[in-house]
Amino acid sequence: MKEAYRVKGISESVIREMTRKAKKYDAINLSQGYPDYPTHEDLLDEAKSAIDAGINQYSITWGKEELRKKIGEKLNDFNDIDYDPKFEITITCGSSEAIMATMLGLIEPGDEVLIFQPFYENYVPAVSMASGTPKFSTISIDQKIDREEVKEKVGKDTRALLVNTPHNPTGKVFTKDDLGFLRDICVDNDILALTDEMYERMIYEGEHISLASLDGMWERTVTIGGFSKVYSITGWRVGYTAAPKELMKSIRKVHDYTTVCAPTPFQQGSIKALDLPESYYKNMLDYYKKGRELVYESLKKTEMVPSKPEGAYYMLADISQYGMDDLKFADHLVRKKGVAVVPGSSFYREGGKDLVRFCFSQEMALLEEAMDRVKN
Ligand code: GLN
Repeated sequence: MKEAYRVKGISESVIREMTRKAKKYDAINLSQGYPDYPTHEDLLDEAKSAIDAGINQYSITWGKEELRKKIGEKLNDFNDIDYDPKFEITITCGSSEAIMATMLGLIEPGDEVLIFQPFYENYVPAVSMASGTPKFSTISIDQKIDREEVKEKVGKDTRALLVNTPHNPTGKVFTKDDLGFLRDICVDNDILALTDEMYERMIYEGEHISLASLDGMWERTVTIGGFSKVYSITGWRVGYTAAPKELMKSIRKVHDYTTVCAPTPFQQGSIKALDLPESYYKNMLDYYKKGRELVYESLKKTEMVPSKPEGAYYMLADISQYGMDDLKFADHLVRKKGVAVVPGSSFYREGGKDLVRFCFSQEMALLEEAMDRVKN
């Protein structure tokens, strides 16, 4: 069967394949990043009551007005960016749709998009489905960007750069200085910035800064976020994209014709997320901090060399001592030890063969069991 050029050369997501393997071999799943922190009951109650109250049909395509308004307030208070919810915020089916809709709406054939690698797997297919060309600059395992390389990779065909902070999978939290540098790159070369700020509330060291809040960036940035990770509702599929009206017009066309709207009762439930007190975030962070310590200290006692993340809930570990590449190692771990991780090469265009990614968003008892299995 002939495949359309749009999907040619794109393989299935390795992250999601590892979840299927975890199920098949009945392994502890530390691959795909699903959060184990309990969903707050206000969100659950609200979504259930929404269903009971008959809020089961399409919402307005751009998302429920109240949710857009709340996101607008959150973007103002937490991210220090001002968007008009009426025209500049769109609720999507998770931030994955937001990324895809943004690429399809803004990238043209021949446009280059600079992506930092290691990268979250969805970015590259999103660029190529939009007929753009991905370019790569590497973030080191100790979470540094290479400014010279970024400068080299940006040229006359660059249309956008994509920044994910806190970063999956290294855990890098982009500093003000990093972002200032990227701002200069964007302004000097007149290019767009697309940001993925999914883990904005999961920061152990440093602070979250939105690129759009920097001088000269609002007009050229698309800010993407979502509810999945921070509120433990990955299956609800509620995310958003925010951008100046002119950019949003194109993004909305794609959203309109692909998903029509995000699930209405779950949009209703997500409204409650934005009413949660600061203590919710503090407790969640304490929970993940313990997981981070446990996995880091346990991996240090093996032949692996883990890198401690500043944010998000993933940890890369070097496996070069094992005499296996990442695919063999991950396969061995899931079949023989009963622990699923993600092979490092799935986060790179080239490279990553000496890395695997552990996700530490599981409860302590399960993480302890997984670490025991990995050790022995
Ligand atoms: N972001 C998650 C990860 O990297 C997965 C998200 C997804 O599969 N949609 O594991």
